[in-house]
Amino acid sequence: MSLIDLFKQEEDEMLKTLISWAEINTYSYNLTGLDQMLTILKKAFGELATSSIEIKELESHQELNYKGELETKELGKALSIKLKSHDKPLQKILLMGHMDTVYPPELGFNKCTRLDSNKLNGPGVADLKGGLVVLLYALKYFQTLEESKRLAIEIFINPDEEIGSTGSQKYFAELAKNNNIALILEPSLEDGSIAFQRSGTGNFQFLIKGKAAHVGRNFDDGVNAIVAASALAVELHELNKLNGLIVNSGKINGGGPLNVVADTCVLGVNIRVETIEHITIAENSIASILEKVETTHKVKVERYGSFNRPPKIPNQDLEVLYKLVEESAQELGLTISRKKTGGCCDGNNLFQLGLPNIDSLGVRGANIHSTNEFMCIDSLNERAALLVTILKKLSHA
Ligand SMILES: [Zn+2]
Repeated sequence: MSLIDLFKQEEDEMLKTLISWAEINTYSYNLTGLDQMLTILKKAFGELATSSIEIKELESHQELNYKGELETKELGKALSIKLKSHDKPLQKILLMGHMDTVYPPELGFNKCTRLDSNKLNGPGVADLKGGLVVLLYALKYFQTLEESKRLAIEIFINPDEEIGSTGSQKYFAELAKNNNIALILEPSLEDGSIAFQRSGTGNFQFLIKGKAAHVGRNFDDGVNAIVAASALAVELHELNKLNGLIVNSGKINGGGPLNVVADTCVLGVNIRVETIEHITIAENSIASILEKVETTHKVKVERYGSFNRPPKIPNQDLEVLYKLVEESAQELGLTISRKKTGGCCDGNNLFQLGLPNIDSLGVRGANIHSTNEFMCIDSLNERAALLVTILKKLSHA
């Protein structure tokens, strides 16, 4: 029986597991939901032959709220599992995914719906709970094979990927040091193609401080922070004219009563860069734009945030790994093509730390980060078979 047929027999069970996991709200700041998910994952993955299971604490996340005050937000916990292996493994493999989603509970997107015979709509069904189901079932089977003993496998599931892994990143250097290769279960595109080159990204907030004044009595004494923030947004938007840079002002908040000159405004901006050089270009441009806005509008601007995910530009190590994945897909009769994407993930950071990784080995799906998110049900068995085939190849490599 082919591997795909073998996993097809488990499709109903995999789908049931996926629905039950997706219907637990695990928004990155929903600590109750994340805790519940952690317990479930710990039990499910704990049924594999493991040598250690650890719960990892994360540092809290600091963010400027849109009133201009620094707020501390607590984060969930990560799960780290090491599987049993021989003393001298041939390869050390990190298998990684995240349990958090982008949907706050109050959004009301908490249930799964079958769209047709092969499509399931639901929160995180593709990004990334489908991938976690694939990972679990693939490993259950792989551990029955003699080859599994030749690999040292470490699983790391974090609860903060969707907010840039700000709390779990402190573990990445160790993960990169302890492993030779990482396979990450982010969703692939609907046609099965996987991410090849990824942009880098950073989230920024600019706190603009002006001076309040009564509009009727002493308007001229005031310094309007909203006007300065708007000028800043326009100047930053101009950077989109440069190749290799995307700058999006995503949120702005400031002011209060309409008869008062607004003294505070916060502008939130996401920036994407194609190469490392573009980070320098963006940093220099931001610095000169801030200086210009401060001088022209007589405001003070404080900058928060940084480029937290560097671009992932393929190199020779990655090429070798891609070939192995493509060969594995071919053996199963699957076609996989490579795509360049502006999206980013933990694979960007691990790659910068020297760990070659393929980061879209999860289920096929689309419309992620929207309530139209869906996954293709037949990709559960396909991707489990693919992951097992890749691991088998690595155990001989
Ligand atoms: Zn994801």
